[in-house]
Amino acid sequence: MISFNFYSPEQKISLPDWQNKSIHVSVKRDDMIHPFISGNKWRKLKFNVEEALAQNKKHLVTFGGAWSNHILATACAGATFGFKTTAFLRSEEGINNPLIAMCRLFGMNLIYINRVDYKDKRFLFNTHFGRDSQAYFIDEGGHGALGSKGCEEIITSLNETYDHIFCACGTGTTVAGVQQAVSESGLKTEVHGIPVLKGGGFIQDEIQKIHPNNKPVTLHTEYHFGGYAKTKPELLQFVEKFVSNTGIMIEPTYTGKLFFAINDLIAKNYFKQDARILIIHTGGLTGFLGMYERFNLDLDQ
Ligand SMILES: *Cc1c(COP(=O)(O)O)cnc(C)c1O
Repeated sequence: MISFNFYSPEQKISLPDWQNKSIHVSVKRDDMIHPFISGNKWRKLKFNVEEALAQNKKHLVTFGGAWSNHILATACAGATFGFKTTAFLRSEEGINNPLIAMCRLFGMNLIYINRVDYKDKRFLFNTHFGRDSQAYFIDEGGHGALGSKGCEEIITSLNETYDHIFCACGTGTTVAGVQQAVSESGLKTEVHGIPVLKGGGFIQDEIQKIHPNNKPVTLHTEYHFGGYAKTKPELLQFVEKFVSNTGIMIEPTYTGKLFFAINDLIAKNYFKQDARILIIHTGGLTGFLGMYERFNLDLDQ
């Protein structure tokens, strides 16, 4: 077992627009887990790191885009727990940005890969590290069964019970673990997912792949704002309003869409009187770093 202490409280919040609604909203502050091994990226890495240690591996090898919260988390986790790290970066040769610079600072080796070659991750791993018995494969975003297992701990560590739990979905690994833990704990909580990609219905299949007998989650597929990392002035305005009213940082790629959706559902009286709602803050600021110029441009109009 690796030891890593962190604090992730359930914090009650309210926005001015919610004053007349009888609902109780809390945020599970997984964004406070660690500044770089943030949110669900730590949850998804935990059992991968333990497995790598158990197998005596010395080198974590993973995959991600140029703004991936996951590669930053892997770079820092590697530095923390004594691994070398490499990421295959889905990006043009030589691209640099603050996230990539931070990964390098944590000692990560980066291999730039074009979109076509990037598709076959196992092939890339085998070509570069097939003969390296110390290399350990971690899928993009920490996707997979070990990742999902770590996300179950979001639920098993809760202090209170809720009627609804929400989280943002990219691959669906996090929501799969959340639903699994809710079922196993015998909770009556309804689990909701907000896909940040267009056509997010595929998340249901991803959940079934990880946990074939799981109850489907409630997906709200209309909050993608045009697709992954796409945004609209409405979303940026909401993010600004939310951050300035709560002191909780969110960003437009994942958590902005999540909180926007909940705010919209509250406005539409989706929830019953006195509903207790928990929103899982999955962390990650790179969505903000990658898009910060958009705030000034769009908000001034
Ligand atoms: C990666 C990420 C997600 C997506 O998690 P999945 O398990 O792939 O669905 C959600 N929120 C944030 C902040 C992320 O960085």
